[in-house]
Amino acid sequence: MTVQTSPRLTAALTAVPADRLVYDLAGIEAQYDRLIAELPGVRVRFALKACPVDEVLHRLAARGAGFDAAGPAEIAQALATGAGPDRVHYGNTVKSDADIAEAHRLGIRTFATDSLQDVAAIAEHAPGARVFCRLATSGEGALWGLNRKFGCSADDAVRVLTAARAAGLTPAGLSVHVGSQQMTGEGWQQAVDLIAGVLVRLDGLGIALDHVNLGGGLPALGYLDRHGEPLDPPLDKILTIVREGVEHLRTLTAHPLDLVMEPGRHLVADHGAVRAHVYRLTRRRQPDGADAHWLYLSCGKFNGLYEMDQVIHRLVFPTHPAPHGPDDPAYLPAVVAGPTCDSDDAYGGGTHPVRVPRDLASGDPVWILSAGAYAASYTTQGFNGIRPLPHLCVPGPAPAPAPGSDERH
Ligand SMILES: *Cc1c(COP(=O)(O)O)cnc(C)c1O
Repeated sequence: MTVQTSPRLTAALTAVPADRLVYDLAGIEAQYDRLIAELPGVRVRFALKACPVDEVLHRLAARGAGFDAAGPAEIAQALATGAGPDRVHYGNTVKSDADIAEAHRLGIRTFATDSLQDVAAIAEHAPGARVFCRLATSGEGALWGLNRKFGCSADDAVRVLTAARAAGLTPAGLSVHVGSQQMTGEGWQQAVDLIAGVLVRLDGLGIALDHVNLGGGLPALGYLDRHGEPLDPPLDKILTIVREGVEHLRTLTAHPLDLVMEPGRHLVADHGAVRAHVYRLTRRRQPDGADAHWLYLSCGKFNGLYEMDQVIHRLVFPTHPAPHGPDDPAYLPAVVAGPTCDSDDAYGGGTHPVRVPRDLASGDPVWILSAGAYAASYTTQGFNGIRPLPHLCVPGPAPAPAPGSDERH
């Protein structure tokens, strides 16, 4: 699958006179609608750390989305969209007593957990709350595994939810995160199988959950890998596994079981782009004795492209004709890097050249595609004097009526 940049995004990137992070709100909304159509009845809780931009959050909330928030500040930002507290959960298993109490004060009644210590704290500072237990996954098949720090074993999950019930909390669900940009169907299949085993054990103990939460990890489609090859994740296969997996889980328990998902990257990555500019195209002798071209841009790892060591973003040079095939002599291979005094600030780890116009001049604009996820959140303040990129949201046509959703109030 290839990703087409929408005419709206292209027009906005063309029009901005200076560096900007540009979001296509109608594109994000359409991406949300597609997910709902693929997984009927799913409750989407957008992981707002992937794009904590108010305009984006408002647009998603108006469509019926809720939010996966990681602490009181994110909870407050989510509630400011008008989504009620019943559409927001505290999805971080890592929290202080004070943060739990503050979330409870803000009206949040559903919390992630993965340890007896955290359950005890929730029982004390958010009495009576609903909890869902996060199961650890291997993270295999994902670009960013998220393993070890989060989640517990199946045995621990049974203990944690049993303790939650004893402490007056409502054991409400099981969750996973299969790793961010999970590239394999197997990642989700293993998660479904893991949940199935725990669900049956809990049923045997008289603990009836009301939902499973398959977390984030749904891939974006527009990235290139570290070697410059399209990642091409099997999205249709993944969605089929999720759909059929949930149907299977529903056969294992007598109680209705809702599906919650917490997409972050998948909803926004391909609908945001950076308008940056060329610093300079250079040619230098490298330690191995060979000459190499390096293209330095105004935007890199520390001001919007934090993930550039794992992925390569597609580049467009709007002032130059697109290359005529892979051997166009007007283009040459160059390693692309950001502007800072840090050698990690380079695409694909700084080893894999991509083709760029050979007559680029300082100041020429460049568009960096599929940069809508984690760009606004993973940015430094003042590193080498660089400020976070200002953003621009393109509204696009007014939203159509939201698809039927029981979550709209
Ligand atoms: C970051 C995060 C997500 C979103 O992950 P993506 O890979 O961007 O979809 C979802 N759930 C939790 C708990 C997270 O921490």
